[in-house]
Amino acid sequence: MPVTPEELREVMGRFATGVTIVTTEDKEGKPYGLTVNSFTSVSMTPPLVLVCLDNQLSGLANFKESGRFGVNILAEGQTDLSDFFALAGTDRSQGHYVTGETGVPLLEGVLARMECEIVSLSPGGDHTIVLGEVKGTEVLQPDKGPLLYHGGRYKKLNEA
Ligand SMILES: Cc1cc2nc3c(=O)[nH]c(=O)nc-3n(C[C@H](O)[C@H](O)[C@H](O)COP(=O)(O)OP(=O)(O)OC[C@H]3O[C@@H](n4cnc5c(N)ncnc54)[C@H](O)[C@@H]3O)c2cc1C
Repeated sequence: MPVTPEELREVMGRFATGVTIVTTEDKEGKPYGLTVNSFTSVSMTPPLVLVCLDNQLSGLANFKESGRFGVNILAEGQTDLSDFFALAGTDRSQGHYVTGETGVPLLEGVLARMECEIVSLSPGGDHTIVLGEVKGTEVLQPDKGPLLYHGGRYKKLNEA
């Protein structure tokens, strides 16, 4: 019997992750971002990371066309930012954006962030696996803890 989405969700809910806002831009250069917890480090040499994006995502073409993205790692307490960038109908150009050295939109006030050039887009069932080479990194708030996501809820370290 194949594993059902509910069974997979039940198990994956036990796996704690951080929370990121993944950013890119549209053809006109307007920033676009969404909340993502499928962010993973893949390789150190070369420096590679990946994110998995829903094929239904309104901004999926922005990633394909711009060829680059930013990963903004949220700090504990930044649940409003996570909710804003996860909500249907949000005006995703309205974040506190700055432009990174590679030209990719990034967010102000986050724990840490990186700029990536897309190396490949691969099919992953109902998602697309976006592999990126890291071109720049910054830790903005070294003393703050991360925002965590576990069991469908936001948490902070020491609370899990
Ligand atoms: C903790 C967390 C982790 C996540 N991790 C991932 C991840 O790893 N990968 C991933 O792909 N997603 C992830 N998501 C979900 C993701 O953030 C959302 O699916 C995404 O923000 C939707 O972007 P969109 O541009 O498609 O949305 P929108 O285009 O804003 O809306 C989505 C849909 O709603 C419809 N819609 C538009 N406006 C309205 C409106 N006013 N009212 C009602 N409906 C409307 C649109 O037609 C569209 O089909 C995560 C969410 C959370 C909370």
